[in-house]
Amino acid sequence: MSRIRQLPPDVVNKIAAGEVIERPASVVKELLENSIDAGATRIDIDLDAGGTELIRVVDDGCGIDPDDLALAFSQHATSKLTTADDLFQIRTMGFRGEALASISGVGQITLQSRTHTAASGCEVKCDGNGISDPRPWNGAPGTRMEVRHLFYNVPVRKKFLKSVATELGHVCETVTRLALAHPALHITLRHNNRLVYDIPGSAGLLDRIALFFTGEVRDALYEIDSGDGPMRLRGYIADPKCDRGNSKLQYLFVNGRWFRDRSLSHALQESYRGLLMAGRYTIGFLFLTLPPDKLDVNVHPTKSEVRFQENSLVYSLVRATIKQRLLKENLIPHLTVPQ
Ligand code: ADP
Ligand code: MG
Repeated sequence: MSRIRQLPPDVVNKIAAGEVIERPASVVKELLENSIDAGATRIDIDLDAGGTELIRVVDDGCGIDPDDLALAFSQHATSKLTTADDLFQIRTMGFRGEALASISGVGQITLQSRTHTAASGCEVKCDGNGISDPRPWNGAPGTRMEVRHLFYNVPVRKKFLKSVATELGHVCETVTRLALAHPALHITLRHNNRLVYDIPGSAGLLDRIALFFTGEVRDALYEIDSGDGPMRLRGYIADPKCDRGNSKLQYLFVNGRWFRDRSLSHALQESYRGLLMAGRYTIGFLFLTLPPDKLDVNVHPTKSEVRFQENSLVYSLVRATIKQRLLKENLIPHLTVPQ
């Protein structure tokens, strides 16, 4: 065996990018989360060729101080955490300080940003070869991030990308999840200069559901709310008559973050036991809130999975809240409510 070597930063970034950046939709997710963390009220997304050629995300958030621009691309550089204890009190979408470093390892970034108090802003370009010197930039306050030629230097990854329509579909799903989790946000999405979504901030959650999944779905929904408490479940479930052949319309969110969880999907399905034929799935939009220290979001590089400190309590809350609601609609008149 040869001697141990420290890997150069561009290789480290490419390895890290392999975990976080799988396709254009992963870039869109990371950039949107940054805009949300920056307090944006409006986000405009532009894509060319399903995002493989261009991804542009423009927000009206707090902007980045010119002195911090270069640091934003370093690995583990973040403004959102300072101590290890903060890891257990996470209230932001990001915290690992890895997204921009990873993206710059596999795409060509132009970052333009201006804070609301600065007289002018700044622009830097960054790719696998390094960062350019900052230049003055005089756009509106907020941040404008462009990622071009994704995977231009990782041919293997590029080969795994699917058709433009499929990649666009993944981006649309990412935008849908974020738009549902943040109903006050104005989001637009353009693809090859054609408007795909224009979702005003004033459209509430139900309007958003109608926009993404049709009015038929919205009209079949029952509101659920477990009531005040440190752990709370709110959202919508659907009449069993409006069932589906797959579970795609089952959305789970915790503290404003979309996540995947087999156990909670099971709790949702189980609540409909006896009401759905085999192989049929209910629709559900479930929003959990709980104290950040009862939740570990740092279990997956893309944060699409979380770990609950009290898994069985969360499971019971979901199941009991949904069952009670179905009972109230007289959909399961003879069943007793589980503990
Ligand atoms: P993280 O989000 O985990 O902190 P990122 O690599 O995604 O890491 O971003 C690094 C830092 O760059 C963030 O902590 C934030 O300070 C800054 N930043 C990135 N995007 C934006 C944005 N759209 N608006 C304001 N600041 C941003
Ligand atoms: Mg981030």
